[in-house]
Amino acid sequence: MTALVDGFGRKHDNLRISVTDRCNIRCFYCMPAENVVFMQKSQLLSFEEIERFVRTVVPLGVRKIRITGGEPLVRRDLPVLVEKIAHIDGIQDVGVTTNGILLAEHAQALWDAGLRRLNVSLDALDPKKFEEITRRTGYEQVLEGIEAAKSVGFDPIKVNAVSVRGLTEDEIVPFGQFARETGVEVRFIEFMPLDADNAWERDKVLFAHEIIERLSDEIGPLEPLPDQDPTAPATDFQFADGIGRVGFIASVSQPFCMSCNRFRLTADGKIRNCLFSLEETDVKSLLRGGADDAAIREAVVASIAAKKEGHEINTARFIQPERPMYSIGG
Ligand code: SAM
Ligand code: SF4
Repeated sequence: MTALVDGFGRKHDNLRISVTDRCNIRCFYCMPAENVVFMQKSQLLSFEEIERFVRTVVPLGVRKIRITGGEPLVRRDLPVLVEKIAHIDGIQDVGVTTNGILLAEHAQALWDAGLRRLNVSLDALDPKKFEEITRRTGYEQVLEGIEAAKSVGFDPIKVNAVSVRGLTEDEIVPFGQFARETGVEVRFIEFMPLDADNAWERDKVLFAHEIIERLSDEIGPLEPLPDQDPTAPATDFQFADGIGRVGFIASVSQPFCMSCNRFRLTADGKIRNCLFSLEETDVKSLLRGGADDAAIREAVVASIAAKKEGHEINTARFIQPERPMYSIGG
């Protein structure tokens, strides 16, 4: 069967599925502060529709799934979906990205459902800064969630921290120490133009190389880990004394589009071949309209074939997508 190869020879085996656009916090780089108009329940793909979609694309080579949102843990019974997906023949890897607020409550059920990969987003170790960024409370719950996930057995746990110039510089060294003390890998993500408020500016991006420099100066030298997956968005490092790992997702300063193997299914059933794409393919109508598997596969193959070379953030041609991150699924 045709594999999901685009016009630049990139093979797509990695699917990110958004299960909701709702969220229990309001990170400024993602959502508006107030008055968000969320999708109606009837617009969301059901777990059965998501499962059918995954089963349909496995023969096209999809092997890895990451469940995201919005906040995936606000979708009721998420472990049920994890279990359905983890049991599909051909799926080798299922992950969840969460803000961690509801994690303590759900960590055991997620583990029992077969989940082993967990990314928790936390941008600040200073509780006040956390509230400034998320415009909500919840810092303690996130830390409790990470602890709960650890005690259930999740290992490694990765913490995603968005880096913003003028805001998160003071978090760099504490996060480096946190990585060394807890064994959690902290991955610094460059702020991308996907915010609902359209306030992104290049000057607000705190670049990966600056963070590496700061960590090396103040904690100790960093060495790249050997044998890294070339399709992974993060470049991973270890402190030279062997204690503590950090990673960098340098989407703006070092775009990794040429090794991208990812595409996305939004909560309302649209395929996006890139985070930054301006076009989508509606598969919900196919799923609900009685289309057979071949028709669904054809739509996915065509979407991937049309993928652009790269995101163009660093050019004057760049156009920010209409959907902000919470609505796409990060
Ligand atoms: N709510 C979950 C969470 O926060 O982990 C999952 C969805 S969230 C959209 C997925 C990831 O995207 C998070 O790690 C978040 O920090 C990141 N993210 C959101 N907006 C971003 C932006 N404008 N630039 C860089 N990363 C962003
Ligand atoms: Fe919610 Fe995640 Fe967006 Fe923050 S980044 S507002 S936690 S969806």
